[in-house]
Amino acid sequence: MERGVFRLRLPLPWPGVPHCNAWAVQAGDGVVLFDTGMHQRDSMAHLERAMAMCGLRVEDVSAVVCTHAHLDHCGQAAEIMARAGCQLWMHPEQASLRRMMADPQSVLERQLEIARQSGVPEAALQRYAAERGTRDFEVFPVPEPDHALLDGVTIETDLGTWTAYETPGHAPSHVCLYQPEHRLLVSGDHLLGRISLYFDYGYSPDPVGEYLRSLDVVAGLDARLCLSGHGRTFTDVAAHIDASRQLVHERLAAVERAIAAGPASAFEIVPLVYGEAVSPSNAHWLLSKTLCYLEHLEVRGVAQRLKGEPERWEPFGSAKP
Ligand SMILES: [Zn+2]
Ligand SMILES: [Zn+2]
Repeated sequence: MERGVFRLRLPLPWPGVPHCNAWAVQAGDGVVLFDTGMHQRDSMAHLERAMAMCGLRVEDVSAVVCTHAHLDHCGQAAEIMARAGCQLWMHPEQASLRRMMADPQSVLERQLEIARQSGVPEAALQRYAAERGTRDFEVFPVPEPDHALLDGVTIETDLGTWTAYETPGHAPSHVCLYQPEHRLLVSGDHLLGRISLYFDYGYSPDPVGEYLRSLDVVAGLDARLCLSGHGRTFTDVAAHIDASRQLVHERLAAVERAIAAGPASAFEIVPLVYGEAVSPSNAHWLLSKTLCYLEHLEVRGVAQRLKGEPERWEPFGSAKP
């Protein structure tokens, strides 16, 4: 087999995100697999087909390394480990994933509660519940990592050693892996070719602040080629880091403008920031991000929340009614 990195492009059942990537790198007699794709019907057949195109078999996998605990990046870890008899490297902070797999219904209820607290009207909540009631993922066993993928942990391959860098923000468990001689970065969802942001809401105090610090971490690496969790590889890594940082600041500024005129709920802020109203198909995505921006402004002392149903937000220091 040739020395190199193989991109395994695997299908996803999500309309806006039709594919994810796993990356296969030869390591002696085995193969290191960065990310796994999602667990769903036929997903193992898709992985087998993609690996066969590179002359590889699932049984060749000697290590599974997951960039973060999202369904599309670790969903097949348990099955690959069982078939290949290999070990798992993954960050230990996986509360959200474990809860989702242990009790999917409670996760839906929590999302509805967050939406209600954010000011989504009752009728829209009912529609959202009806649409989300049919789960868009299959439950799978979440294996305990054999190795905690923390800062400085290394993975050996025929291309050289990869070093883990913790990059929380998109998810608390997010890690990037860097190969310095070839200047390759396995970036997961931290950096994507198409600038697109998402932050897990409710699992750490300030995901946006974490994300900005994690951009500084990868900016210090001098990567030449980014192997991202979705889409094609890209080379202008520094420009992508700058564009991601700029988009965060644009969104934060838009959220600040949205609350400047007085208290507003996240439901009222979303259309002012994103130019589209909350709908069943975007509610989870847009509310999570908007709440993360609001919490970041709160941490920075720029915004404050008014407790209540719904919760509203205003500039910090606004006169109390
Ligand atoms: Zn993700
Ligand atoms: Zn992803």
